[in-house]
Amino acid sequence: MKAISLEGIHLLGTIDCEEAIVKRPDDVRIKIKSVGVCGSDIHYYRDGKIGVQVVKYPFVIGHEFSGVVEAIGSGVSRLKVGDRVSVDPSVSCGTCDQCLAGRPHTCRNNKFLGCPGQLEGCNKPYIVMPERNCYLLPDPLSFDEGMLVEPLSIGIYSTLSAGDVAGKHIGILGFGPIGMCVFQSLKMRGAASVFVSEPLANRRALALAQGADMVVNPLTEDVISVFNNALPLQQDIVFDCCGMQQAADQAINTLKPGGTFMIIGIPEFDNWAFQADLMRRKEITIKNVRRQNHCDQAAIDAISSGNVSMEGMISHRFHWSEAQKAYDIVANYRDNVMKVVLYFDE
Ligand SMILES: [Zn+2]
Ligand SMILES: [Zn+2]
Repeated sequence: MKAISLEGIHLLGTIDCEEAIVKRPDDVRIKIKSVGVCGSDIHYYRDGKIGVQVVKYPFVIGHEFSGVVEAIGSGVSRLKVGDRVSVDPSVSCGTCDQCLAGRPHTCRNNKFLGCPGQLEGCNKPYIVMPERNCYLLPDPLSFDEGMLVEPLSIGIYSTLSAGDVAGKHIGILGFGPIGMCVFQSLKMRGAASVFVSEPLANRRALALAQGADMVVNPLTEDVISVFNNALPLQQDIVFDCCGMQQAADQAINTLKPGGTFMIIGIPEFDNWAFQADLMRRKEITIKNVRRQNHCDQAAIDAISSGNVSMEGMISHRFHWSEAQKAYDIVANYRDNVMKVVLYFDE
């Protein structure tokens, strides 16, 4: 079976990889339908690494996908051949202290699709996954919406992790796909106002169209003074969805005393810097988000019920033979890109 492989910095190719065959009783074989290109895929594409996770070439990345069950192991009870599924790319061990504490996303033995040294990614036509990672897609949901369950689950988990957001004033720094998923989750959960900072014009327009209460361009406006002038008592919670140092500075300067800074973005640097004095006097809480925990079904329900809208998320669609072009568009923020999808049908 051919798969799309990372061959070097900014370079994709194809490799022959192992056929997707059901071997374990709890495995299902999935025909992959829709694969999203994620910001973290782009980190591997552009830098060859995320932190200590360094790519050894060639390597197959990709982790956001949906598909159809094609074969099932003897122990599979919930799914049947022909079922449409969204797939959680995180395979946890189920036995370590983290799994037993209900934190499979920080499992000591976690294996994540398309993560160097862990599992081969989903940029290929077929894959084998444990049944427990597969979530049935209700009929009205498209394969593209099924693929968006993974990023949306991160948005939902991030807002749940921030606590009660209802009636709160909130900032989002960065309105890429994850910023939008955080935004939609906040709206669903009753945030009083959401201010957005985003450098790309198309993404600012999307945030406005979805009902953001204020949208600023951090390249031409002073985010701190614009946010603070509009909201003199300042924000309850600020979400970093860009992984930039400025986000930390802006958050600490726009949060109210007792506020919370949620870090979702993946920085390209090794160390954050925080204004110690201001952060201490305001007693700011800083919380990191690692992917998501048990929010797959909530994401499916949110899309099916219409409580969130994924409208405007997908900006580009490509056959996988055009993967290099697709990745270049995302890596260079070209053509008003938001989420790019690859299709693996022959
Ligand atoms: Zn992702
Ligand atoms: Zn574990």
